[in-house]
Amino acid sequence: MDSSTDHRSPQQKTARELIWTSNHSFHGWTCSQCEWNSPIPTLLNDPEAKTAFDRLAAGKFRDHKCADHLSRLGSADDADSFTPRIRKLVTQGFKPKDAVELFLQEIALEYRNQPKVLAQAKADGEDFLRRVRAGLI
Ligand SMILES: [Zn+2]
Repeated sequence: MDSSTDHRSPQQKTARELIWTSNHSFHGWTCSQCEWNSPIPTLLNDPEAKTAFDRLAAGKFRDHKCADHLSRLGSADDADSFTPRIRKLVTQGFKPKDAVELFLQEIALEYRNQPKVLAQAKADGEDFLRRVRAGLI
């Protein structure tokens, strides 16, 4: 048995997480364990409306049964989605606000000539902090 092929711990097999996914094709919440998702309107600009949608998605997430959906293939962490990078910094011990700041510094170096990417990263960072304040994540 090659231990390097199975990265899943027993805990990861049972615990499911509400994951924010934002990329070119999808903006919304997804489940870490199955294909359940709850898209958020991309034109939503009002922070309070966004939070209301987030709460709605969190409620639907709690009610869904992973068994009723296809199981998720691969990682929900899309390469062009920024939020997983912020989450990673937080799990490393950074406070959310510091994590977002650090993340934006990294992005500014990586994408220094791509203002559109920087604007998206900034928006994702602000969304992340808003959700932390709202107690959603
Ligand atoms: Zn699920």
